[in-house]
Amino acid sequence: MLADVHCHLDETFFKDDVDKVIENAKKAGLKAIVPAGVDPKTNRNALLLGERYPGLVYPALGIYPPDALKRELEETKDGFSHYDVDAEIEFISQNASKLWAIGEVGMDFKDGTDFPEQERIFRKLVELAIKIDKPLIIHSRKAEAKVIDILETYNYRRIVMHCFGGNHNLVQKIRDNKWLFSIPTSAVRDQHFQKIIRETPLFQILTETDSPFLSPFKEQRNEPANVVETVKLIAQLRNMAEEDVVGRLWKNTKVLFRI
Ligand SMILES: [Zn+2]
Repeated sequence: MLADVHCHLDETFFKDDVDKVIENAKKAGLKAIVPAGVDPKTNRNALLLGERYPGLVYPALGIYPPDALKRELEETKDGFSHYDVDAEIEFISQNASKLWAIGEVGMDFKDGTDFPEQERIFRKLVELAIKIDKPLIIHSRKAEAKVIDILETYNYRRIVMHCFGGNHNLVQKIRDNKWLFSIPTSAVRDQHFQKIIRETPLFQILTETDSPFLSPFKEQRNEPANVVETVKLIAQLRNMAEEDVVGRLWKNTKVLFRI
């Protein structure tokens, strides 16, 4: 009964072996994998994965701040096509019945440049999630305080902070707001996440891999099966039996996604 609530299983990263990766996940005990889209191409890919692996893969669609993504992709020389953000929001809205969540969305002050435009798009996506009543899976990079301020202007609880890098005060704000943290597999060697695991009520914790990134094993491509490593870590840090951790986290997954 394990879940990977945030990963990227696009062809760019899993070109020839996505079947094998899904098989590995099943063997490891995963019952839910939520691949995220960040732009038109990856949104469509996430939908296709949901159709290809029904009962296990449940897509999330989103828009990563286009100015930040553009820079990131140009650096990796993967190309970038300009697209109509409002048309893409409409596309997400039309596919609402096929989604488990809106994500990956958020703000990026590290790679992005046009912060007012980022906020405009982010707010539209938050409002869409509220309208269609789906959880929000959020990434904020060097924009954690701003993202929290914006979210606090809405009275919405179905919020997951994916791979949250903000400081202790901001972590506490998330706890106080009763939002959730999805803990990446890289937590096995990251004191920041280990502190979050120790100090956060268990009902506010979920597991993710952010595959292909943030592997628990250095220099390896990450995959959903590796959430097992986070479960082991949580059991160790909270002094609990692994099966109890699995049960509690699965309950959180069920509550959040209403399954
Ligand atoms: Zn991600």
